[in-house]
Amino acid sequence: MKHVDIVNGSTKVYGLIGHPIKHTLSPIIHNTLAKMLKYNMIYVPFDVPSGGLREALTGAYQLNIQGMNVTVPYKQEVIPFLSKIEGYANQIGAVNTLKRGKDGYIGYNTDAEGLLQSLIQNEIRISGKNIMIIGAGGAARAAAMVTASQNPKQIYIVNRTKEKAEELSKAVSSHYDVPVQYGSLHSMDKDFIVDLCIQTTSVGLLPGNDQSPITDEAFFSRVQAAVDLIYNPSETLFLKMAKKSGCKTVNGFGMLFFQAIRAFEIWNEITVPPMYIDQLFEALKNEFNL
Ligand code: NAP
Repeated sequence: MKHVDIVNGSTKVYGLIGHPIKHTLSPIIHNTLAKMLKYNMIYVPFDVPSGGLREALTGAYQLNIQGMNVTVPYKQEVIPFLSKIEGYANQIGAVNTLKRGKDGYIGYNTDAEGLLQSLIQNEIRISGKNIMIIGAGGAARAAAMVTASQNPKQIYIVNRTKEKAEELSKAVSSHYDVPVQYGSLHSMDKDFIVDLCIQTTSVGLLPGNDQSPITDEAFFSRVQAAVDLIYNPSETLFLKMAKKSGCKTVNGFGMLFFQAIRAFEIWNEITVPPMYIDQLFEALKNEFNL
C-alpha cells in the first residue's frame, strides 16, 4: 500500500460540521476524489451539538484542520466566527465551505456554483429565460443569486411566508439589475412561461416524500425545466409531476456533487480534471441510485 492510501503524520485533515450529519455523502465524495488524485488528505464528519459551534471552530483551528464544509443549521451562524467571507457568500449571507487562513477560517459559498454547474451539465440555460424559484430560505438565496448573475429575463419568487420572498427579491435587486417579482402561484400572470422552475424548499424530503409544494398538476404545463434541490428521494413528487407533464427534470445530487468539487478546488488551489469529475459523478450516481 502506498503512503497516500493510509493516514500518516503528513495527512491533511478536512471535515464537515453540522447537526445532524449522519446521512451526508460529502465524506464519500472528498475521500474518493483525494484517492483518485493521490492527495494525502482525509475528510471526516463532525456532528457539532447545538451551542457548540464557536468551540468547535476554535478547536478545529488549533488542531490544524485545513478546511471544512458547513451544513444545516450552521451556514449563517458560522459567519461571525470567520476572518472574512468571499464571493457568493457575501450576497447569499451563508457559508458552506471554510478554508484555513493565517488568522482564522475564510468562508465561501460553493452551493451557488454547484447549482450553476449542475444546470450547465444538464444543458439548462438561464440567460434570457424566465426563472421561478419556490422557497426563500438559504438554498433559495443561493439559487436566486446565481441565476440573477447569469442575465435571466426575470425571476419570480414564490414562498409560503410572503415576507421572506419579498426580502429575498429585494436582496437580489440590490446586487443585480434583473427584474425580480414575488407572489403566489395564483398571482402569477397566466401567460407566464416558466423556462426554469427551481424547487428549493424542504417539502418532499424523505420521509415526507408524498408531499410537493405544488399540488396543481396544470401548473407544470407552462414549465420547461424543473429542478428540485432535494436528492433524497432521487425523484420527489414535485419532479414526478413535472416529468409526467413533459418537463426536463433534474434532482439536487448534481448541486451537492459540484459544490463539493468546488470546495475541493478551493482547498487545494487546483482545477479538478474533467475526466475525474465525470468518472466520480457516474460512479456515485449509480452506487446511490441518484
Ligand atoms: P431553510 O433555509 O430552512 O428554508 C426552508 C424553505 O422551505 C423555506 O422557504 C420554507 O418556507 C420552506 N418550507 C419549509 N416547510 C414548508 C412547508 N411545509 N410548506 C411550504 N414551504 C415550506 O432550508 P434550506 O437550507 O434552504 O434547505 C432547503 C432544501 O434545500 C432542503 O431540502 C435541503 O436539503 C436542500 N438543499 C440541497 C442542497 C444540495 O446541494 N442539493 C444544498 C442546500 C440545500 P418558509 O419561509 O415559509 O418557512
